[in-house]
Amino acid sequence: MSDNKRFSFEFFPPKTDAGREKLKTVRAELNKLGPDFFSVTYGAGGSTRDNTKGIVFEMIADGIATAPHLSFGGDDETSMLNLLNEYKQAGVTRIVALRGDLPSGMGAQRLVYAEELVQFIRENTGDHFHLEVAAYPEVHPDAPSYEKDIEYLKRKLDAGANSAITQYFYNLDAYLYFIDQCNKAGIDKPIYPGIMPITNYQNLARFSANCGAEIPRWLAKKLESFGDDKESLVAFGCDIVTKLCEQLLESGAPGLHFYTMNQIEPNKTIWKNLGL
Ligand code: FAD
Repeated sequence: MSDNKRFSFEFFPPKTDAGREKLKTVRAELNKLGPDFFSVTYGAGGSTRDNTKGIVFEMIADGIATAPHLSFGGDDETSMLNLLNEYKQAGVTRIVALRGDLPSGMGAQRLVYAEELVQFIRENTGDHFHLEVAAYPEVHPDAPSYEKDIEYLKRKLDAGANSAITQYFYNLDAYLYFIDQCNKAGIDKPIYPGIMPITNYQNLARFSANCGAEIPRWLAKKLESFGDDKESLVAFGCDIVTKLCEQLLESGAPGLHFYTMNQIEPNKTIWKNLGL
């Protein structure tokens, strides 16, 4: 497998002290695997702003390359600029720039498209940050059409984003066709597949329905059949996701981004299976 592929791990900011303590162990363990960077998600609407910032600062201070996710949410330009300056001063060099989704109960706020955030960051901080944006091989739920979704991705990249990370998927063909269509639309920047390990069928099914990721029927039926046998489900999920990662890398994917769900396993096992 090529050495120049890029591998990264994503965390979400825990809400409790116990969660934050556990994350320290998880990040230390996953950092031993030598990923290129970690990223930490952000709740649009500012709900996790301080948690995200706190974890990013802690990890950067420990010498671990870490990228905050960022979106305007309900923030104005001054607070955004202050946050960007804080990140810059702390040594952050990469940001995942998003529109985000508003938590329920905040429906009156305007969502700012990721394209505008990318423009804002470039206008105010030049080339300091490497900017990642989100991409959707199975189409973002709000997108007016497949083609329009690709057009909007191109606009984010043309506005100055360096690369994209995809929503997770289990259909290899969806990613390969998407890359082909992106190339045809003139996108020449890397698009890293997002990888979601499988540990809990019910949660995965619920989450997938919300974000528009498809669990193929055969996979759903198979996962369902494990019932309460979590151990067998995780082992099966590990095999399936390892195979998907292998096929992606062999097909020319530039790397992988793991949605770790703040767990060591099965991320570590998949990583080892891949011989990274
Ligand atoms: P955008 O690129 O702004 O697109 C949003 C929708 O609007 C799409 O349907 C697009 O087709 C459409 N669109 C874009 N531009 C226009 C336009 N000019 N006119 C009309 N329609 C337009 N969510 C969080 O809350 N926190 C996180 O930390 C987080 N991290 C993520 C990381 C990754 C790698 C991915 C793939 C997703 C992440 N998400 C996160 C989820 C993401 O915020 C949601 O999917 C959100 O609904 C869209 O964000 P976006 O940046 O893709 O939006």
